Amino acid sequence: MPSNLGIDLGTANSLVYMSGKGIIIDEPSVVAMDIDKKKVLAVGNNAKEMIGRTPGNVIALRPLQSGVIANFKITEAMLKHFICKTHSKLFNFSRPKVVICIPSGITQVEKRAVIEATFNAGAKENGIFLIEEPMAAALGCNLQVEEPIGNMIVDIGGGTSEMAVISLGGIVTSNSLKIAGDTLNEYILNYVKKEYNVSIGNQSAEKIKIELANVYEPEEKKFMEICGRDLLSGFPKKIFITSLDVYNAIREPIFDIIDAIKLTLEKTPPELSADIIEMGITLTGGGALIAGLDKLIEAEIGIEVKVADEPLKSVVNGTGIVLEHMGQFFNTLKSSY
Ligand code: ADP
Ligand code: MG
Repeated sequence: MPSNLGIDLGTANSLVYMSGKGIIIDEPSVVAMDIDKKKVLAVGNNAKEMIGRTPGNVIALRPLQSGVIANFKITEAMLKHFICKTHSKLFNFSRPKVVICIPSGITQVEKRAVIEATFNAGAKENGIFLIEEPMAAALGCNLQVEEPIGNMIVDIGGGTSEMAVISLGGIVTSNSLKIAGDTLNEYILNYVKKEYNVSIGNQSAEKIKIELANVYEPEEKKFMEICGRDLLSGFPKKIFITSLDVYNAIREPIFDIIDAIKLTLEKTPPELSADIIEMGITLTGGGALIAGLDKLIEAEIGIEVKVADEPLKSVVNGTGIVLEHMGQFFNTLKSSY
């Protein structure tokens, strides 16, 4: 019997859950390619290390951009790498069943393409099940999705922020926004360019965000030293960035996300919004780790916000729950073929 897999193919991170074992892969969604030979050189951690350090003919790609599959062949190569890592010998009779997450706004054509890529990567025919990301996230956060009550989940990832109201095992209202963790990095990068005349890389911007971002009570005393390139002289330059800088840099996209949450609530039937007011909103995805975001949303919307225990793992844990209780969730699953 092959072990079945639950896969969270995120824009920033991909995680794989194996039935009976738990999470066995947690790597960045990055593929390094030799563009001359059109060959995949590395996937995941190994590929991420190559970013910014590669010779001209090697590029590092994130195959899922803004939550949609920007490049199918490369996505397939990435899936193949992960599936092969979990199953050293893949025979036809031992192909695993796979529960795989898809963004909630994906089209029928895109769904078919995900199934095909998953099959080509080694999954069992008739054994590929798609589950919408907010549903998996909600399951992974232990929300009672099968009950006749409204649950609201907000998943802020790298490329997209997905929010949904779930009741009776289905998504009642959802919204997917292309403003998420990557956007915050871009705003930090642009802010540093404008305010300090210094150019920094995306990885530095991400480091600044993780270390300093606080969107509720930014502290001017909290700072870090960062090295970039002076745009006037062209030489390397050290600058100090404060938590207040970061707040000013990311305020706009943070409020865009909050506006989208408000909009999703406005589209929610009144009975279910009453439940949400009572039960609160669950915040997950890497973006849930931004300090003070829960408090800011509470202050802006007036509903209690709970941060998931393991925001980076909610979705894959949700696919794991589905794998372990396949029969129970059958109606929730969008089956294929
Ligand atoms: P995806 O599901 O799209 O792959 P993830 O849920 O894995 O995304 O979250 C990745 C995003 O979360 C990235 O933009 C990353 O910078 C951000 N992130 C991770 N940890 C933190 C943190 N401690 N503070 C703020 N942002 C974080
Ligand atoms: Mg995700």
